[in-house]
Amino acid sequence: MSDNSLRLVWIYPDLLSTYGDQGNALVVERRARQRGLDVARLDVRSDQPIPTSGDIYLIGGGEDRPQRLAAERLRRDGHLYQAVQNGAIVFSVCAGYQILGHEFINDLGQREPGLGLLDVVSVRGEGERCVGDVLGDIDPRLGLPPLTGFENHQGVTHLGPTARPLAQVRQGRGNGTGDGTEGAYNDTVFGTYMHGPVLARNPQIADLLLKLALDVNALPPVDDRWYEALRDERIAAAQQSA
Ligand code: GLN
Repeated sequence: MSDNSLRLVWIYPDLLSTYGDQGNALVVERRARQRGLDVARLDVRSDQPIPTSGDIYLIGGGEDRPQRLAAERLRRDGHLYQAVQNGAIVFSVCAGYQILGHEFINDLGQREPGLGLLDVVSVRGEGERCVGDVLGDIDPRLGLPPLTGFENHQGVTHLGPTARPLAQVRQGRGNGTGDGTEGAYNDTVFGTYMHGPVLARNPQIADLLLKLALDVNALPPVDDRWYEALRDERIAAAQQSA
């Protein structure tokens, strides 16, 4: 990060932004400003080059065809890969998560290469589409409260040895592999199946991205009572439906 200014890049809003994923950019931006940071937010359409100078990159979910187009353009562009080699942070949702992996099955039923930024491979689930509320416990190494969100995907994602599961689900399907894992991450690259939008429902994750960008262990607290009430409500609802 340069000075007090955070460069936030929202990748391909024209292709990848379903189920309110735009909210993720709004939340990171607002929480950074609440901590006194200047935020330069850049929304990069799929016909534009990805800048390599971003601090945090966000990618949302999408339907199968836009997902293939986005993967093709991101591979051709090559800059996101370069940004991560320079230490950038990436947070991705659903179709965006699958694109960051080694490969996924595209809308034509073919194996589509991803960017290889996460050690995951996605296949097409044979069973019912995974749709519904999710509640999970985030990897204890990250020291964050439970994750809540909404999933809607056909893809099933298998983790390789260098990816850690982001969470273990108590409710919902997550990666869809049947082992209870949800999402994946390595040092600075994160993927999740959670919409919601996920950072509006889990601002603790937005703060994690900011802490990584600022290279600090803590941030000044902000008023999170509304989020906490929503989380408690979702936990109670999951317990009731169990
Ligand atoms: N097309 C992908 C799937 O169904 C991703 C869907 C999404 O982003 N919601 O697995």
